[in-house]
Amino acid sequence: MIKSTFASILALLLLNSCGKKEESQPVEIISLAPVPSSAVSQFSGKRAFDHIKKLTDFGPRPPESEGYRKSLAYLEKELHKLGWKTKRSSFQSQTPIGPINFTNLIARYSPNTEPDWSISPPFIIGGHLDTKRYPTKIFLGVNDSGSSTGVMLEMARVLSENGGAALNVEFVFFDGEEAILEDMVFRKDGLYGSTNYAQQLRKRRTLPALGIVIDLVGDPEVNLLIGRDSNPAAIAQTQRAVKTLQLEKEVTLAPGSILDDHVPLIVFANLPVLHLIGDFEKMPYWHKEGDTLDKISPGALENTGKLTLQILHQITQRKSKSSEQEN
Ligand SMILES: [Zn+2]
Repeated sequence: MIKSTFASILALLLLNSCGKKEESQPVEIISLAPVPSSAVSQFSGKRAFDHIKKLTDFGPRPPESEGYRKSLAYLEKELHKLGWKTKRSSFQSQTPIGPINFTNLIARYSPNTEPDWSISPPFIIGGHLDTKRYPTKIFLGVNDSGSSTGVMLEMARVLSENGGAALNVEFVFFDGEEAILEDMVFRKDGLYGSTNYAQQLRKRRTLPALGIVIDLVGDPEVNLLIGRDSNPAAIAQTQRAVKTLQLEKEVTLAPGSILDDHVPLIVFANLPVLHLIGDFEKMPYWHKEGDTLDKISPGALENTGKLTLQILHQITQRKSKSSEQEN
């Protein structure tokens, strides 16, 4: 199996931290361009919200739809403006209703040259772009999955405006997260895009050190949950970031595992992951026509964006006297 420098370093740190009985130690990686703490405050929930409004104007985004194609083009245009290069990764999968064509979108910061797609940066940040497919009703999927998409686009802006900080990250917008039939069943229906992405990732010369998956992150009425499949050291980093940002009321540990795009990353690419997901059991509109713009707020989007950037900041900062004192 191929291992990257980043993954090896992280693996060592994870082993160290997991082996101890006391609280997990912070995860660290050697980054050539740390994410500065000043980047955290630059995240704008309003800008993320505006992206989601635009996506909503394209209508429902199930696989193979016009809305999905328009959304892909919008993401490409916005990312290219910021110096990111994008790659469409298209494939066909068997589904319970026959073969369907899916397209993941992958983005890397590389303003002047084409990036080397066979080498991974330390982090991948993923979320799904598709909305659940309904033959008759109009499902806009503002929180599921407009919210994570808007947050990722705004994070791309902030990272690209902070020196080389954007070099740490690959963004991936997954197609086909949603099941074709009613419920998601692992290996049978749903998670098509993340499964294909994880299988492709294994063929690369290097793997990322951590995969962060975000989903349903825009509703201010419910908690953001730290999924229990997350790596223990990544959970510890998240809890430290939650404290720093004073989000203890808004962000809590999930009571159990939640099946989502992070699972194929663990199963097919053996990646340590961090899963952040809104408490969908408390969203009466989940997978219903009521998943509209009024359900999300710039404040909730901003919490998720800032939390993710704070985690990146903590993990990428170099260990030194000054950085130890810094939050
Ligand atoms: Zn969904």
